[in-house]
Amino acid sequence: MIPTSESMGIVDTSRVFIQPVWRDIHGISVDMLRLDLVHPVVSGNKWFKLTGHLSEAHRQGADTIVTFGGAYSNHLIATACAAFHANMKSIGFVRGLTPGSPRTQTLLDCASYGMHLVGLSRADYRRKEDIAHIRMFSQIGPDAYFVPEGGGGALGQSGAGRIVDYIPPEYTHIAVAVGSGTTLMGLLQRLPAGVAILAFLPMKNGRYLEQQIAPLVPPQHAIEWFDTWHFGGFGKCQPALVQFMNAMFRQHQLPLDFVYTAKMMFGLNELVQQKVFPPGSRMLAIHTGGLQGNVSIAAQLCY
Ligand SMILES: *Cc1c(COP(=O)(O)O)cnc(C)c1O
Repeated sequence: MIPTSESMGIVDTSRVFIQPVWRDIHGISVDMLRLDLVHPVVSGNKWFKLTGHLSEAHRQGADTIVTFGGAYSNHLIATACAAFHANMKSIGFVRGLTPGSPRTQTLLDCASYGMHLVGLSRADYRRKEDIAHIRMFSQIGPDAYFVPEGGGGALGQSGAGRIVDYIPPEYTHIAVAVGSGTTLMGLLQRLPAGVAILAFLPMKNGRYLEQQIAPLVPPQHAIEWFDTWHFGGFGKCQPALVQFMNAMFRQHQLPLDFVYTAKMMFGLNELVQQKVFPPGSRMLAIHTGGLQGNVSIAAQLCY
């Protein structure tokens, strides 16, 4: 058997459960799939996207995992933590990081897992798909396995598709927050065609993602895109969002992250209140994790 992070005891998928959130609001129920609970750092969708990559790295006999992300990236720290527990070295290329720039808590934690952090100018970062270029100028050896930004690629998508194993058939709508779209694409590979997908974009002008992803969506699937609830842009938050997060925690013991899941749930709540969906709809929102990031963002923006 190929040792996975799970068999090595990094994550615990038996902790995943479906939490009722809102009951009978205009005849609609909303539940949340608590994927955040698999691990505090290798959490939510990040673990699912990494599984296939880690197995493949192991199959290739790689001793180093290389990946890419921004200074707040949940993917970067999930990779650092998973590599640490798998006894592999890790290298993280960080967009826009310069020697003088202050380190976010996410980056400090990446380093504490032994990840070697290398700043890339925004121009070089745009060439990150050019692995030969990256290998050459950073002198990375042949025994390194490259995970695409955001844990994407075919293996990232098929790993994310395994989330569907945790989704019972009674749901009519699945809500998910979109970053790279890898999780969304993975869900589409496995969800029955009749299930509607509600895709929440947490960035300003996020519709470019819809343009990129929509042509790849199998025609039998219906996706509805929502870009209203970005709260000032990707990684930005506003007092109304913090109030909502606090209320969700107090009323439902439901911790949400600023960047993705809080914005999605805020939007979903408004849509349900506005009677956008037919009565009888049963909604499952996916908690994609990311709670570690709250520390960095709270420190910077909300106090
Ligand atoms: C990374 C992340 C996403 C976005 O996932 P993609 O597969 O890149 O679309 C959503 N939610 C959380 C909490 C994340 O950390």
